[in-house]
Amino acid sequence: MMVKVWQQARGIGIAGALLFSTSIQAQSDRFADVVITTLPLQDSVFMLTGAGGNMVASAGPDGLLLVDDQFAPLADRIEAALIALPEPATLSERPLKYVINTHHHGDHTGGNRHFAGRGAILLARESARVRLLDAAPTPDTPLPVITYSDGIKIYFNGDRLQLLGLAGHTDGDTAVFFEQANVLHAGDLFFKGRFPYIDVDSGGSVGAYMASQARMLDLIDDETRVVPGHGPVADKHDLAASYRMIAATRAAVAADVKAGRSLSDIQARGVAAAYRSLAWAFITEERWLQILYRDVLEHGAGD
Ligand SMILES: [Zn+2]
Repeated sequence: MMVKVWQQARGIGIAGALLFSTSIQAQSDRFADVVITTLPLQDSVFMLTGAGGNMVASAGPDGLLLVDDQFAPLADRIEAALIALPEPATLSERPLKYVINTHHHGDHTGGNRHFAGRGAILLARESARVRLLDAAPTPDTPLPVITYSDGIKIYFNGDRLQLLGLAGHTDGDTAVFFEQANVLHAGDLFFKGRFPYIDVDSGGSVGAYMASQARMLDLIDDETRVVPGHGPVADKHDLAASYRMIAATRAAVAADVKAGRSLSDIQARGVAAAYRSLAWAFITEERWLQILYRDVLEHGAGD
């Protein structure tokens, strides 16, 4: 998902600054009741949820590592949850060394300023860094300091983390695979039980989204704990179901386009009954069909 207030507030002088501070106030209120919940996944790896994109943390002798950091108003609560991970330790005893941004959207990167201020090194795909820079509300906004295109590996807490440089949700996605723990954070390349959001205006596409899902499916097995960008913890079967749903709904829209049906015709009929329950507030059935329709027009029917 994405948050527009950052972009809205950018580059329009005093009015922009006022709008920005108002937006921050509104954000704080919106997050007043959010609680950060910790779910142990495997050994030293934990899933953390609050509001916004799911997080994964590693806690062990090398310190802490965090994948995504939700919204700025939650940063203190996320930090408290990190400190409370087994064995509880302050950040000076067990430093937060790395924060990985799975992509640039504000519900995954809002804590960057707070955690960079705690000494964490931010990592992201180079193209995600470009978008974070473009959306930065102030010149001193912390940005990823280590970037990559295809990917990079981190050896941490006895595990090897593969950061896979991917695309499809945006043009700067990362999935993080903890090889030993057998945990995959898919970022927003996977929404469990919902139609995915494909941010075409940030370089996303349905074809790249499916290719990235196929790459992740190749990498994992039936025991892998798969953390979606949004939704509860999942497994390979759930990720495969998402891939099949996208393929089936796209093929249906491609056939409709070939038969000369308009977007409103396609939306009036809707998706196949089996997929209707995947609609949610942000990506309704109509919006999902619109994303597919636009993709078919731009990229052709595919196979
Ligand atoms: Zn997103």
